[in-house]
Formats: sequence, C-alpha cells, structure tokens
Amino acid sequence: MREHIHIIGGGITGLFLAYHHTKKGDSVTLYEQSEKLGGVIGTKTVDEGLIELAANGILLTDEMKPMLDDIGLTPVFPNKAAKRRYFWVNGNLSRLPISIITGLKLLYVIFFKKIKFSETQNFETWAIQMFGISVTKNIIEPAIGGVYGTRLDSLQAESIFSHWDGSGKNTILKEIKKKKGKSLGTISFPNGMGDLVSHLVKYLESKIEFKTNYQMQTFDEILEWKGKIRFCISLKNLIPFLGNRIQPNELPNLLSITTITRFGNSHLTKKPCFGVLFAKNEGIRALGVLSNSDIFPNRTKNGLHSETWIYPETAKVSDKETWESILETDREQITKLPEPPKAVYVTSWNGVFPAYDGKLFEFNQRIDVIERELSSKGINIRFFGNYRKGIGLRSLFESTSRE
Ligand SMILES: Cc1cc2nc3c(=O)[nH]c(=O)nc-3n(C[C@H](O)[C@H](O)[C@H](O)COP(=O)(O)OP(=O)(O)OC[C@H]3O[C@@H](n4cnc5c(N)ncnc54)[C@H](O)[C@@H]3O)c2cc1C
Repeated sequence: MREHIHIIGGGITGLFLAYHHTKKGDSVTLYEQSEKLGGVIGTKTVDEGLIELAANGILLTDEMKPMLDDIGLTPVFPNKAAKRRYFWVNGNLSRLPISIITGLKLLYVIFFKKIKFSETQNFETWAIQMFGISVTKNIIEPAIGGVYGTRLDSLQAESIFSHWDGSGKNTILKEIKKKKGKSLGTISFPNGMGDLVSHLVKYLESKIEFKTNYQMQTFDEILEWKGKIRFCISLKNLIPFLGNRIQPNELPNLLSITTITRFGNSHLTKKPCFGVLFAKNEGIRALGVLSNSDIFPNRTKNGLHSETWIYPETAKVSDKETWESILETDREQITKLPEPPKAVYVTSWNGVFPAYDGKLFEFNQRIDVIERELSSKGINIRFFGNYRKGIGLRSLFESTSRE
C-alpha cells in the first residue's frame, strides 16, 4: 500500500508537490498555518490595475504544460514588443553593455573555460576571475542581483549553481546542455499569478485534504506521524522548527526585499521593454524594474502604465525619505522627466529569501544529513523550497516533480 503524504506548508511549493502526488494517485493532506493558500504569491486588484505581491511570472517548460491543462489555466505570453531587456550602465540604457571584443571573450569563456568554484570566493570575486571585470560589472551583477535580490558580494557561485560540476572538469556550455527541459519563456495568467494558486487549489480540492488555519505541532511530534513527511515552508519559518538540530553557527542568512508597483501616465522607456536591470554603483538604489503593462496585456485600467521596482533590504528608508521619493529619484534618472505617479503600492517581505551564499550551501548539506539520519530510523522526510535547489517557480515545480 502506498504511504500517505503529509505536506506542511501551502505556498506554491506545497501546492506543486500536492499536484505531483495526486498525479501518482497518492493520498495527501496539506497543512497550512494561515487561512490563505499560495504563500507569498498573490495578485491584488486596485483601482489602477493589478499588483503582483511576489512573482510576476513563471518560466514555462514543456513539462509544465500538462499541469496548466489539468488545472484549466491558459497562459498569457508577453507582448512581442516587450522583448527588449535593458541594462543601466554608465548612466545609459543599453541592450548589450559590452564591447564586441569583450563579447567574443565571453563566448570563449562559455565554450571553453572550465568552471571551478572556490569556497573562499564570493560571487563577485569568482565572476571577475571567470569572466573579467566588464562582463561582471555590466551584465552579471545586474542580472544576478535582480533575480537573487541582493548584490554579488553577498552571494556565492557554488550555492547558485549547486547542480553544476565546479571541480574544473566542465565548461558552462556543457552544464547548460545538461539541464533537461528548455525554458519557453516567462508567462503569466489572465488575472495575474494569483490565478495559478486559485486554479491549483480548485483542482486539488476534490483530490486532497486541506487543513488551513492549522496549529502546527512540534518537529518531534510530526516525526511520529505515519506516512511521508514533506516540509514546504519557507526557510525563515523552518529554522525555529528545527530547534537544536541546527547550531547557531550553521544558520543561513536571510534577505528582505521591497517591491513597489507604480502606476502613471508616462512610459519608462521610449520603446516598450521587459524591464531594466541596474549595475552597482550607478547611483540607482533599485536592483531592477519590470515594465508590467508593456509585458502583459490588461495589467492596468484607463491606459495607465505600470512598473514594479525591486529594492534590496539595503535600500532602507530614512526618516526623511519615503519609498515613493526613492523610486521617483531613481526613475527620473532614466526618464529625465519628473512626473508624479497616479498611485504607488509598496510590498515589503522580511527574510523571504535566503542569501545564496556559502552558508546556504552548508545549510543544505546539513539538511541532507538530517534527511538521511531520519531515513535510517525509518522516517521518510524531505524538505522542499526556494532555499534548496533554486529560487524560481520553475525550479520549485521541477524539484517537487522529482519526488
Ligand atoms: C518579491 C518577489 C518576487 C519574486 N519574483 C519571482 C518571479 O518573477 N518568478 C519566479 O519564478 N519566482 C519569483 N519569486 C520567488 C517565488 O515567488 C518564491 O520562491 C516562491 O513563491 C516561494 O514559495 P514557497 O511555497 O516555497 O514559500 P512561501 O510562499 O513562503 O509559502 C510557504 C507556506 O508555508 C506556510 N507555513 C509556514 N510555516 C508553517 C507551519 N509551521 N505550518 C504550516 N504552514 C506553514 C506559510 O503560511 C506559507 O503559506 C519572487 C519572490 C518574491 C518575494
């Protein structure tokens, strides 16, 4: 007889895992401490249009398509005109902020240079050694910083590319080729990312047992449960759960992030674009900005333009500043025109992400040991989430599918 599956945490990780198990015919109970499912993902409707509370899109793959069919959800693809992605470097917008010679050197690195990670190097030092200063400063820093919610010197390559062989045997090209399932680009849904949660919940409702507002027991009590135990809660919530199984010096670093959705009349750039990524030390405090209404249709009302600006926790607001003033100062550098916004909505998440650094790499090794130790005692337990094998929703979908 197949064992019952207990999923703790009803964010997107827990919902994806529940979906994969129902496809295998397993019986599942999902425990969520709050009333609401979906975790950080959600879409709010305001007078001016839609606001995404966390993820704005998901990378579509062929493997994901059957799930979208099952849950009756039609993807919305980005407008073709919004393909442009800009880097802000030396006070200018640029689509490829490196010279032709540096571009050729980059191709050489990707095709021929062997990857070697070092525990003692942060991502910035590693990237400069691997790609040189120009590529690191102008491309890697803004691109990685925008995704991982911080600057390169707070990250570690080994932690981000944990599935790559960094022992000096493989090239980047070989590692990229190893990854199964090509990405078909970013998608969203007709009413935003909240649709993904509501459709998954509707699909699962008749197939699994949901226990929302669940008052969770202690870790030791949960270990007594019969069946497979699957933790899908965020790292911030997991740490206190584990108690003295994790020593204080093993605790990972958590990051906070603030996103600001701004509605206004004018566009950010002359031509429609996906967004802009900002290099370090360019006088802009944001990591990046998404041009929402250029990317997806029906994101705003009355012809307004919508942008989401992403700030790392270091962009702290002082007594004299507001988030709106920080954003408008940043924005004016790009548009060169001050224009008061119609509305601005701020969402702050504390400790929502792990820092993808050396401590996280070690923490994951410790979690692997806990899984193995408990398994040797006959307890089938596993941990899933954005601190394990990748930060994005595609990675969460794939890691939960490999159960
Ligand atoms: C601002 C922002 C923008 C992002 N943009 C993108 C993007 O564009 N594309 C992309 O792919 N990814 C993006 N991400 C990342 C992605 O959204 C997250 O990695 C993902 O949603 C995390 O989901 P989760 O289920 O693992 O965690 P969570 O969403 O944190 O869910 C965990 C759930 O567990 C519950 N829980 C906690 N403790 C307990 C307990 N003790 N008992 C029971 N339940 C518990 C919580 O209430 C919650 O519902 C973004 C994230 C943020 C914050």
